[in-house]
Amino acid sequence: MLDSAQPLFNPDFSGYIGAMTDITEQELAQQAIEELARKKDEFFSIASHELKTPITTIKASLQVIQRMLDQPVPEPQTMSFITKANKQAAKLTGIVNDLLDISRIQSGQLQLDPSLFLLNELVQESIPAIAMKSPDVSIRFEHSGELQVFADAARIEQVLLNLLDNAVKYGAGQPVLVRTGKVGKQVNISVTDHGIGIPPDKQARIFERFFRVHENSQHYSGLGTGLFICAEIIRRHNGEIGVVSKPGETTFWFTLPDAAVA
Ligand code: ADP
Repeated sequence: MLDSAQPLFNPDFSGYIGAMTDITEQELAQQAIEELARKKDEFFSIASHELKTPITTIKASLQVIQRMLDQPVPEPQTMSFITKANKQAAKLTGIVNDLLDISRIQSGQLQLDPSLFLLNELVQESIPAIAMKSPDVSIRFEHSGELQVFADAARIEQVLLNLLDNAVKYGAGQPVLVRTGKVGKQVNISVTDHGIGIPPDKQARIFERFFRVHENSQHYSGLGTGLFICAEIIRRHNGEIGVVSKPGETTFWFTLPDAAVA
């Protein structure tokens, strides 16, 4: 029950007027919402584990076939199908890994494994992976000297690859620019593209889980998981992440704080 009462002045105090409302239904609805949210989290955890096993098998089988084809003279078409299948398997693995990361974030189990590494080296090693997928897009890298940081290299690479992937995907085929630099003791990393941009009213929500600007678009695939994970990884490093965007120019940036910079 929800009780409420208000004093009555007429003009002197003449008592209270009150109401008692049965809120059983609202309470039940609230409980149902919480249960649904719990189930959804559970679903992500189960679905990602269930999906990962067959994908691993597909990838292993394809690799065996690929090795076998190296021996005799292979059918010209077979190879292109294998490449296609491998690409799809890699895509599925990416989705599953994202779902697993979301599940880890939800349960507070996203672990960091920090070490000392050279940031520009990591950037230079990451660019070819994206360039290979999209050979027509040029990716330029600008930096002002070597930067040694203490962070989870694999996770920082994951953030960078995600931002680069988006810059190419939404970048209208235009060149992409990666920059690293130091502001005080803090390290700054940014990725700029010259594509469709993000409307101002959507920019604040861009790092939310499952948020997509072009929600119903068939043109761009994706689940809206990447930036949410990036934001969590940077938050866990006590850094900041953000976006500055107008049509024709979008810059995603993130920082690593003093403590992470050697
Ligand atoms: P997705 O897999 O959908 O790309 P992300 O979490 O990486 O998921 O991005 C969320 C959404 O933000 C995207 O669906 C897209 O609408 C928008 N977005 C991300 N990067 C860019 C960019 N560089 N330019 C324009 N829009 C972008």
